[in-house]
Amino acid sequence: MNKIAVIGAGTMGNGIAHVFAMKGFEVKMIDISEEALAKAQATITKNLDRMVTKERITEEDKNATLDRLSTSSNLAEGIKGADLVVEAATENVDLKLKIFKELDEKADKDTILATNTSSISITKIAAATQRPEKVIGMHFMNPVPIMKLIEVIRGYATSQETTDTIMELSKKLGKVPVEVNDYPGFVANRILMPMINEAIYTLFEGVAGVHEIDTVMKLGMAHPMGPLQLADFIGLDVCLSILHVLHDGLGLPKYAPCPLLVNMVMAGKLGRKSGEGFYVYTKGSKELVLAPRFS
Ligand code: NAD
Repeated sequence: MNKIAVIGAGTMGNGIAHVFAMKGFEVKMIDISEEALAKAQATITKNLDRMVTKERITEEDKNATLDRLSTSSNLAEGIKGADLVVEAATENVDLKLKIFKELDEKADKDTILATNTSSISITKIAAATQRPEKVIGMHFMNPVPIMKLIEVIRGYATSQETTDTIMELSKKLGKVPVEVNDYPGFVANRILMPMINEAIYTLFEGVAGVHEIDTVMKLGMAHPMGPLQLADFIGLDVCLSILHVLHDGLGLPKYAPCPLLVNMVMAGKLGRKSGEGFYVYTKGSKELVLAPRFS
């Protein structure tokens, strides 16, 4: 395996491209937005520069990594000759089904098609293709260059050969792959999102304040970030949409999103990306300040 195509050059796509290129793979980043491609190139360069400054890689490593990276805004051209495609486009089921149908039509017949989806069924995505045995989940964590885990998700029809190839490849990237089956939320979000939802319920019911809830989990459970701060980091709209997937897919009331979370998303308070969630975020400041509503 040598040539990798990454579809979507956003937060996750640029991290995935960065990691593959660093490990010697030829990488093509593909996005419908030229602006996203330029931004991804700039982000990767900045992150590599930081690694040079920290003496984790040399200037030559950086230049060689950048030489292995190229971009395209044309899917058919971008995936030409790819051994593996990793899709990391916007989390939208109709969009992913459309992309996989097109990938199946245009990619070489042996190309493995992986998706970085956080919550959409791998089995459903695979069913949009004529090669479901070659479709698999490769769920990287954010920020990709730093986080060690890859959740490798087997769809209903994913073959053992495809799974073995992706497990081995993940190790070559210096990551730790964990194999899981395709059920709503897989493992990571099946456990994380109910915890975040419960933290929001704890706040909603007045058991404790934002700072208190996060402190209990940080100092009491050795979590690096409290659940409310983490929810802000992930995006409250993303948390809500994954809870809907769990609730719809597993059918149990315990997955019902807290009404406070629903209200916050409706009010446009999406966490860090919108400037306010449980905390407020000002550019350039790392200080954790409670949102006025919760102070
Ligand atoms: P993002 O919004 O930062 O980037 C998505 C990119 O996809 C954008 O640049 C957009 O222009 C591009 N895109 C949209 N339609 C496209 C198409 N038809 N062809 C090519 N590119 C297209 O999103 P993100 O946070 O990087 O998430 C990407 C995927 O990774 C989602 O499936 C998400 O669930 C998953 N994921 C996200 C995180 C996270 O913390 N952000 C973590 C794990 C997995």
